[in-house]
Amino acid sequence: MIISMKLHATREEINHVRERIEEFGYKVHSIAGEERVVIGAVGMGDVTACLESIEAMPGVERAVRISAPYKFVSREFRQEKTRIQVRDTVIGGDEFVTMAGPCSVESEKQILETAELVAKHGAKLLRGGAFKPRTSPYDFQGLELEGLKLLDKARRITGLGIITEVMSDRDVEMVAEYADILQIGARNMQNFSLLKTLGKCGRPILLKRGLSSTIKELLMSAEYIVAHGNPDVMLCERGIRTFETATRNTCDITAVAVLNELTHLPVILDPSHATGKRSLVPPLARAAVAIGSDGMIVEVHPNPEKAVSDGAQSLDPQQWAAMMEDLKPYLALWKQARLKEAVAV
Ligand code: PEP
Ligand code: MN
Repeated sequence: MIISMKLHATREEINHVRERIEEFGYKVHSIAGEERVVIGAVGMGDVTACLESIEAMPGVERAVRISAPYKFVSREFRQEKTRIQVRDTVIGGDEFVTMAGPCSVESEKQILETAELVAKHGAKLLRGGAFKPRTSPYDFQGLELEGLKLLDKARRITGLGIITEVMSDRDVEMVAEYADILQIGARNMQNFSLLKTLGKCGRPILLKRGLSSTIKELLMSAEYIVAHGNPDVMLCERGIRTFETATRNTCDITAVAVLNELTHLPVILDPSHATGKRSLVPPLARAAVAIGSDGMIVEVHPNPEKAVSDGAQSLDPQQWAAMMEDLKPYLALWKQARLKEAVAV
């Protein structure tokens, strides 16, 4: 449920409401809105009795039930989009944020070269896997700690933020030491013990949609992270598995619009994994901008033919530069639309 306090509600009134909510068996989670305090509470108590009782308390404007099963992440809970600050960039704000880099961190030369290249053409974050979820146990599994250190070096040289995947709750602390954003891969979207650990990791999370997961399941997984203490979650559409074989996955572009209705969390599109084919990445990137994603995450490699993973979907340096140049007019329209929305809210 959500309890909106009156504009000039006192600290004491707010504290009384908190106590009453807890007496009804609910867990309190408070957010201070721009103008008034809004209290969110979740739990298994008698909702009708609780709402009636709270609504009659001094300082309370309104108490309503959240009908969605995902509470904290729903639009009902919070109208304004969540803004996530990562170094000097805000995701969910008035800038479309591009994250780019290789699928895997392979070597110092490869990651530094890519970092310079992506920074030069407008990326704000460098992606690169140090822990790789591979279908075959015989494929390259990632440089692990050495990869994290290389990403750190790239950050120091270029100033880019770092986004990298964490696959196990055992590694969360170590990856969080190096990364600005922790990526949770499609295969781990419903690894609930990992999701719970992320609640306390102190870093923003990019949660990728599972291979065959519904939008509701994606939101429930995000709810795990937020309910365990971390509000800085962004969602990523990266294509889902369908009967279609022309592309690696089927990009559910509609998911971006659906998510923008259902949740206040920022939404990121991954045109690389969604298609599996580099020629399809630029048109899908345009779609990501047009439909109102908050950003995108793209695979770029200095020499895709030599990439140890996902070479077929990685842009080469020329394609990357051309795509970012071609996106400029679309990004200008995106910004206009975003500013108009901000005025309307
Ligand atoms: C990746 O980003 O390289 C990756 C493995 O993504 P996904 O989890 O979407 O397959
Ligand atoms: Mn990849």
